[in-house]
Amino acid sequence: MKRLDFQLEATASGSRARAGRFRTPHNEVLTPVFMPVGTHAAVRAQRREDLIDSGAQVLLANTYHLLLRPGVEIFEKFGGIHRFMSWPRSVLTDSGGFQIFSLPGSRTLREECAEFKSYVDRRMVCLSPERSIAVQRAIGADIMMMLDQCVPSTVEHGVAREAMQLTHRWAARSLAARGESPQALFGIVQGASYPDLRVASARAVTDMPFDGFAIGGLAVGESAAQREDCTALVTEHLPADRPRYLMGVGTTRDLLEAVHRGVDMFDCILPTALAKQGVAFTSVGRRDLRRASYRGMDGPIDPDCGCYTCRTFSIAYLFHLNRVRETSGWQLLGLHNLHFYMQLMRRMREHILSGTWLAFYHAQRDVLDARDRYGAEPKHVTKAQRRLLRLQLGRYEVVVRDEFGHIRDRQSGEVMHPVHDPAEEARSLYVDQSRLLGRLEAADSQPLVVWDVGLGAAANAMAAIQAVEAQRRGAGASSGPAGRSLLLVSFEQDLDALHLALRHPKWFKHLRHAGPRQLLQHGRWSSGSAGIDWLLLRGDFAHCKYDAPPPDIVFFDPFSFKTDTGLWTLTAFRELGALCSDRVVELFTYSYSTSVRAAMLAAGFYVAKGIGTGPKAETTIALSPRAAALPHAHRLLGADWLGKWRRSDSRAPFGASAGESSWHEAVSDHPQFR
Ligand SMILES: [Zn+2]
Repeated sequence: MKRLDFQLEATASGSRARAGRFRTPHNEVLTPVFMPVGTHAAVRAQRREDLIDSGAQVLLANTYHLLLRPGVEIFEKFGGIHRFMSWPRSVLTDSGGFQIFSLPGSRTLREECAEFKSYVDRRMVCLSPERSIAVQRAIGADIMMMLDQCVPSTVEHGVAREAMQLTHRWAARSLAARGESPQALFGIVQGASYPDLRVASARAVTDMPFDGFAIGGLAVGESAAQREDCTALVTEHLPADRPRYLMGVGTTRDLLEAVHRGVDMFDCILPTALAKQGVAFTSVGRRDLRRASYRGMDGPIDPDCGCYTCRTFSIAYLFHLNRVRETSGWQLLGLHNLHFYMQLMRRMREHILSGTWLAFYHAQRDVLDARDRYGAEPKHVTKAQRRLLRLQLGRYEVVVRDEFGHIRDRQSGEVMHPVHDPAEEARSLYVDQSRLLGRLEAADSQPLVVWDVGLGAAANAMAAIQAVEAQRRGAGASSGPAGRSLLLVSFEQDLDALHLALRHPKWFKHLRHAGPRQLLQHGRWSSGSAGIDWLLLRGDFAHCKYDAPPPDIVFFDPFSFKTDTGLWTLTAFRELGALCSDRVVELFTYSYSTSVRAAMLAAGFYVAKGIGTGPKAETTIALSPRAAALPHAHRLLGADWLGKWRRSDSRAPFGASAGESSWHEAVSDHPQFR
């Protein structure tokens, strides 16, 4: 059966760049092609019409997430993802492998399958090559991916070789499972950063009758130069008559470099993910709307772009939307970024077809994705100015008081941990109050899961890690391996605060440790001897929390409502309450505002007074109903607080809409006041 019928139309001279086309059951796809990522059967904040307008030909959806939610039976009921999400063009699904091996949580790898725990209902799920294909068939993908074992590009040769060999055995099983289905199936070349393994893998996988070939295991921490070398090496060993797909890559410049090396297909979350941070890809390089210099600037964000955003809105307006964290700002920038990516792919294709690729490639290399210098420091920087600049990064700056460094948000002026010694506050407010060390002494094969909401400069995470390390060092080898292991999950959207603090270890003493740099570099750090795993989930907590194993303890320490608005709303606490409703969970936070406590109560938590710290007379502890039902020593708020709340002007939770008053009854009638 001929599935995609890939036609190679042209190869550029002096380059391996190629233009081609293939046909899926839904449309003809012209390459090179960029596929927007629709993880949960939706491209974040983008409407279907806008995706179609941008020229998107294929969407990528994630099997791992769709298998857990909405579940295979929903796709079976709707006859597949196209009708379910009303998408008329092609869909490519990944196999689920990448998520199983990269997301936090326990998993077991066997010859038969990879077994992992569902983050939705904690059931064990076994994903074998056959099951992955069965799920992708039910989803109805035009192009399916084989299940592979992903390892970080930095693993040892022996480990990389074993993962590669397992991937090859799974390749054969995936093809057998696909059978006579008209859906196309791609093989994946693995081999980490080892040239000999990459060549061996390309040879083995291309010996099998796949409809296309992907390069996996890149875009996970290696340098751009390493990635480009590896891409060039692998494409050299791929057949010319089938499409080539570089998974998870990348910036506009990465795409240009990979097309130059013979790649046809790409996917990446960057256009929408960076839009959320206020960053646009444009014909003059990146534009970062967090830069104050864009305030009030007239004209479109990209003078060379005809998208809806650029036709309709000024930079000044987009800057303003980003600053007030208005959702439509994120949506409009995402629309532009996707449009820009699509237009770039079309232009690359035109230049390959018309024989002008090399000139285009050289002209674009230094422009695409160039750093935003607009309004940057003047050319002649004095020593004093440079010293000052080292104290700033992105929206943050360092302020030093009595030899202790603090991070300040330059937009709101707010300071993280404004007390005398941030490490001391982290220790007493979060580590001691949660009785973290005592809980880790219990014998339990499941790790204790601590959520660290708002990584910031990692004061809380490091207070926990250093306390556990000290305790386990003290216990010594004589007592054998200590009790329960600790899984610490830090959530953060903007890592600049930690990057900035790491520049100044003199003032941030808690960062003199291997953990924080490893976390930034690889997204995780582990200490076998202390039984600690530390993971970073980067992005908006509103979404990321569903990707994390559910917590036993929550350190809730973002900036205040003024700066991190979305995290303190009634909706945010309701979502968190739903996640914790059937678990024993205790949440600790520095805030003791009436409004925040009302939101917690309305979300179903029991609320108690926490210890005082610095200038704060008290803080807050929230207990899930199951935690409140167990014996505990916390001082729950009583009738006196409720009376004060009734008279308070700030009794409404943040973000509660005027029309809705169910929160009022939920607080008044809360069982903790009976
Ligand atoms: Zn535009």
